[in-house]
Amino acid sequence: MRVDVDQRRFARRAVGAGVAWLALFALLTALSQGSEELARFVANVVFVVPMLLLVPLSYLAARRSRGRLQTAWRLLALANFLWLAGELIWTGYAYLRPGGAPPTPSVADVAYLGMYAVALPAIVIGFGGTWAERQVRCMVDSALVTLGIGAVGWAVVIGPLMPGTTRAGAIVTFAQPLLAVSIVTALVVVGLCGHRTVPPSFLLAGAAFTVAGLTDAGYTYLFMIHSYGDASWVNLGWQLEAVLLCLAAAVAARRTEPEPEVRSLDRDLAVLPAAVAVLSVVGIALADLHTGGHLTNATLVVGLLLASGLLLRQVLVTRDRTRLAAALTSALREQERLAVTDPLTGLYNRRFFQEMLRLDAERAERDGTPISLVIVDLDRFKKINDTYGHPAGDRVLVEAADRIRRAVRPADVVARYGGEEFACLLPGAGEETALEVAEQVRRALSRTPVAVPGGRGEVRLTASLGVASAGTRGGRPHGDLEGLIHDADGALYRAKARGRDQVSAAGRVADLALDTDPDLPPALVWLADQIDAKLGGHEHSTAVSRWALLTGERLGLHQAVLRRAAAAARLHDIGKINVDDAILTKPGPLTQAEWDVLRRHPQEGARLLTELSDRADLAPLVGAHHERFDGTGYPARLRGGGIPLEARIIAVCDSWAAMRADRAYASAMCEADARHQIERGRGTQFDPVVADAFLALVDEGAIDELAPLRHAQATLAGQQGA
Ligand code: GH3
Ligand code: MG
Ligand code: MG
Repeated sequence: MRVDVDQRRFARRAVGAGVAWLALFALLTALSQGSEELARFVANVVFVVPMLLLVPLSYLAARRSRGRLQTAWRLLALANFLWLAGELIWTGYAYLRPGGAPPTPSVADVAYLGMYAVALPAIVIGFGGTWAERQVRCMVDSALVTLGIGAVGWAVVIGPLMPGTTRAGAIVTFAQPLLAVSIVTALVVVGLCGHRTVPPSFLLAGAAFTVAGLTDAGYTYLFMIHSYGDASWVNLGWQLEAVLLCLAAAVAARRTEPEPEVRSLDRDLAVLPAAVAVLSVVGIALADLHTGGHLTNATLVVGLLLASGLLLRQVLVTRDRTRLAAALTSALREQERLAVTDPLTGLYNRRFFQEMLRLDAERAERDGTPISLVIVDLDRFKKINDTYGHPAGDRVLVEAADRIRRAVRPADVVARYGGEEFACLLPGAGEETALEVAEQVRRALSRTPVAVPGGRGEVRLTASLGVASAGTRGGRPHGDLEGLIHDADGALYRAKARGRDQVSAAGRVADLALDTDPDLPPALVWLADQIDAKLGGHEHSTAVSRWALLTGERLGLHQAVLRRAAAAARLHDIGKINVDDAILTKPGPLTQAEWDVLRRHPQEGARLLTELSDRADLAPLVGAHHERFDGTGYPARLRGGGIPLEARIIAVCDSWAAMRADRAYASAMCEADARHQIERGRGTQFDPVVADAFLALVDEGAIDELAPLRHAQATLAGQQGA
């Protein structure tokens, strides 16, 4: 606000001073009409005063400006200095030369022409922006306009007056208004058309040169008819020019003006030079016909020059547009690349991958070929970050991405799917091929350790991989991409659960054998194994866990829920550790007291989980695995949706495992009988939705036989050793 007020006050004072000076000069010019001596003093001494002020002011403006504006102001300061020099020489002639008037042309004219010759590049270079072609085009535009106006002026004004004047004098005098015109044109073309904003100081300078052009033209005319004198009112025009330039310099000297902002797509003034060229050729042709009845050679030359100038200009404009189009195209291409690329690894991003998956699945469906998906999740990646820091983790991710890209087949698409998760799309690959490729990826990742940047050692990198296929026998249909991703995710989870650094496939029965989630508390897993061993010669909790996972997958549950269900299933019976062996292995029916003890095992299991482990999240699931859907179960008589879904799943799988195994109290049922029992319990003992999902799996052969315990324990031992 304060700055604004200051600025306005300054502007008012400066303009006031300028107006006052012009009024004074006008008064003196009026008074000097009758007195030659006063006229000479006013036109030669008073006249120079504003130029004496202008030179130091424009020097200050050059000091204050920055960047391209500084270049412009330096050159303008030089131009103003040349103007002052010209005026002082003129004054010298006026007082020292007999007759009081300088010869034409004189040394002063050299200085005046020099002034314009410097001011023109001041505008073009100062404003031209960064590329040279724009400056050349601006020059061509100025030249065209100047030549056009000059040709008309010469033919219509100067030509007829020529005989009374020397040729050299006429040319030199005529050149001055033309140069002023070319400066104004340059300012319009490069400043107003090439920029969003033009500094106020240059608007003022532009006004000054416009005044100069008009004044010079007036002077030229008066000179040609020999009626210019010291008392001429034309002098007032130059005073106005000087005052405007002083204001411009004062504005630039007072505060650093922001650099003008260049337009990348400048407004093209094609019409201006073309119109001037055409009108001027027509003008001088008419003048020719009027005076001599035919076109002169000069007219033809001018016409030719203007035409070639327009052509050159067109070439420059076309090149400019081509360059701009190329720049836009490459910017667009880069934009497109960024939209589909992960910035860290340079792989495709998840969005693009999903789009590719959709397109490739459609194509595969048309062609009747399979398609496979491999999801790669780096093992224990958090530890790498924790040990070496996030930036080092990033470098490892980049290396992992490179290894994966090199390991897959050339036509496969690799993407960064999540933080440290990658996805590979294998068009045309069935499950066998996909497993091979996945195995190659696994080996490529783990074969050699990755050096940590900064020479801080190396890390062994491993990954778990999940494979799923569509369009194969037993695989998903092509259209079910969500299911495909779900399958690959599930397979990946199993690869993690079975010890990491391995490949698992969704469709392979062998891969469905989930033994132990490595994240479960080992003591409780050991407990679960002890209980299983007591119950008989077959596995129990491992199978319940495996089937719970399958059932959950069939129900389309989220990975986190699946994992929780599988983990709770594995530990669902640990509460039996507090039940006497005699009760657990009693061949006959239990007494009421014995039942009471046995029925406490869900709560006991939940208590162990809360008190002995950090998996309290599993306690409610284990605690509810004997609840019944109709609300008649134990311990809490929960019903329907009040029973956690994971517990409802465990209930079905647990019953199946119990029916299919030899127990102390009963021998194993055949599959058909067990199936019948589940069906009978649908809606009473079991959640009907869960029961249906489970029975569908049974019908598909996905629910496998219970492994003999010795085998199960051997598998377990093998894993722990690995
Ligand atoms: P696992 O997959 O074997 O179960 O263990 P993990 O440690 O890899 O587990 P999880 O998937 O939960 O953690 C992934 C970690 O990856 C978490 C996060 O710190 C790290 N991570 C994710 N994105 C980036 C990333 O862009 N840069 C780095 N340096 N780390 C990342
Ligand atoms: Mg992860
Ligand atoms: Mg991980």
